[in-house]
This record gives sequence, C-alpha cells and structure tokens, in this order.
Amino acid sequence: MREGPTLGRSAGATDTGRRRRRNEDSYVCEPPLFAIADGMGGAQAGEVASRLAATVLAEGGPGGTTGDGEARVEALIREANRRVFQRSHEDAAMSGMGTTMTVALVNAEAGTIAFGHVGDSRAYRVRDGRLEQLTDDHSLVGELVRSGKISPEEAESHPQRAVITRALGTEPDVDVDTFTIETLPADLYLLCSDGLTDMLRDREILAVLEGARDLDAAARRLVEAANSSGGDDNITVVVFEIAAAASEETMRLPAVAPAVELDDDEDTLSGLERVRAVDTTAISAEELKRYVEPEPADGASVAAAAAPRGRERRRRSVLPLVLLVLLLVVLAVLVAWGLYR
Ligand code: MN
Repeated sequence: MREGPTLGRSAGATDTGRRRRRNEDSYVCEPPLFAIADGMGGAQAGEVASRLAATVLAEGGPGGTTGDGEARVEALIREANRRVFQRSHEDAAMSGMGTTMTVALVNAEAGTIAFGHVGDSRAYRVRDGRLEQLTDDHSLVGELVRSGKISPEEAESHPQRAVITRALGTEPDVDVDTFTIETLPADLYLLCSDGLTDMLRDREILAVLEGARDLDAAARRLVEAANSSGGDDNITVVVFEIAAAASEETMRLPAVAPAVELDDDEDTLSGLERVRAVDTTAISAEELKRYVEPEPADGASVAAAAAPRGRERRRRSVLPLVLLVLLLVVLAVLVAWGLYR
C-alpha cells in the first residue's frame, strides 16, 4: 500500500437560497479538480456565465491540461474567461455577464494543492481544529480591509460587500491569483460562494464541518445552516479531504468540536444579525482607487498595493443607487418627523 497522504472523499451541494429566484452558482466536483463559480449578469446571464466556466473546467479546456498545478489551473481559468467573454459578445442578452471562479487541483502524489481564483468565492482549510481562509477576496471590501480602511467586522455589514474587483468573462483576458500549498493527512478543504460566507461566521462553518457524519452531510448541512440564517443569496459548497493512503477511514473529519445537529425546525443560527445581500457587481480599478487611495499626505504606496494588478475592470458601480437610497431614507425620516410634531 502506498505511503503518505491521498485524496479522500469529496462532496458538493448547491441551493438557490431563500430570496433569489435563480441559482447563478455552479460547481465542479471531479476529483482531483474542484471549483466554484458565482455568476452575475441580467436575466439568465449569470447562470450562463457560471455554467459555461464550470463546463470549460470540467472538460479540461483545449491546451489547458498540461503543465504543473498552478500553470494548469491558470490555463483553465483563462480559457474559461475567453469562452465566457466570447459568448457575451455573440449574444446581446448575455452582454456584460461574468462569474467568479475558485479552483483547486489536488496532486496527491506530491502532497500539494494548486489553487487559482478570481473574484470573491473562497477556499478554506480546516487543520488542527482551525478554519483558515486561503484566498484573498477580489472585492471592494476585501481591498478596504487589506488597506486598513475598514475592519473585518465592518466588512461583514458593508453595503457594497457584493462589489467585486475582478471577474471572469468581462474582459478578453483576466488576472488569476495562483498559489500552491502542502497537504497533511486529515486536512479538510472547503470551496464556497459568498452565499455561504455572508450568512455564516467562521466558527459556525467550522462547527458544521466538524459535527457532520461525512462529507455529503457536511456539504448539505452547510447549505441548511446558511438558509437557516436567511439564505439571502445562492449557496454553493464543495468539500474534499486528504486521507492517509493506508487508512480505510477516509470519511473521518478532524474531530475537535462536539457534534452539532442542525434540524430543519431548530433554527439555531437565526439569532445572528444578518444584512440582506445585494447583487454582485464589478468595478474598475480606477473606481477602486477612489475608495482605497490614502489621503494625499500618506503617499501612494497603499493605493498601489491595494489596486488590482493589470487592466481596468468593467465599470458597473452601484454607488449612485446607494446615494439615492440614502437620500430617500433621509427624506422619509424628515417627513415622519414633520408628521409627528
Ligand atoms: Mn453569490
């Protein structure tokens, strides 16, 4: 029997959630390749974008199947980008569509996983009872947190937390973040869309993962927990684990926390305050700079570090709408105040 870690079980689950009409998320669970895509665009365009990107990935993509882990992951994502971009220009109804994409490619022999990602769908690792986020969100609030403008707590309820700074399919080419990590037996990995992470805190995600009987149950229960917390957006998760080759017990999850049972009628997470999700949009590098650029006295280094590398992103800001809503709220308060005097 072969020594060392090997790829264990894996499972995926997706759900429309409680407030959306359509599920614009897609996922790939084809060991050793795993991915999440969260689409955006009008009408059915978001679904088309995420499904097309997932299909390109699952098929391997022309010319994308060679090279080492990171090179292959990047080639796959860039091919998916080309296909979504091309489609959006062939069909007017699909104009402007895009999708996030987070990919993990496991090399069990080498004991490594290559990740590639664009957007705000995340990858996490559970090791030694700790949940660790592996990816940096390509989002407005992600940039604001990294540049120290707002705290991670402020990011959770930020009205523009759905604004992403990079997307697949909105430009002819795309910047892909790639990195490789080493695995250990009993590692558990989670890829997920923001419909999960906007609804659940890290400790809640960890409790569900560690309390589940197996990975199918874990994936299902994550979706249930996000729905119990409001289900404001589509929820998609992919989980996979690294097991010891000699062990038959590939289903065992790192056991630290006691089992957490989440019955459908037992709404254990509903007490937490949640804010309604807003539609994902992309903003350009220039718009982003207006948010993260330091005051003139601070110099330019922070802005340079915070701005996304490479070309300008698609311009589709939600700012005017936010200002309009604020104005309406102020007006409503003034009118109500006037009535009650
Ligand atoms: Mn989403």
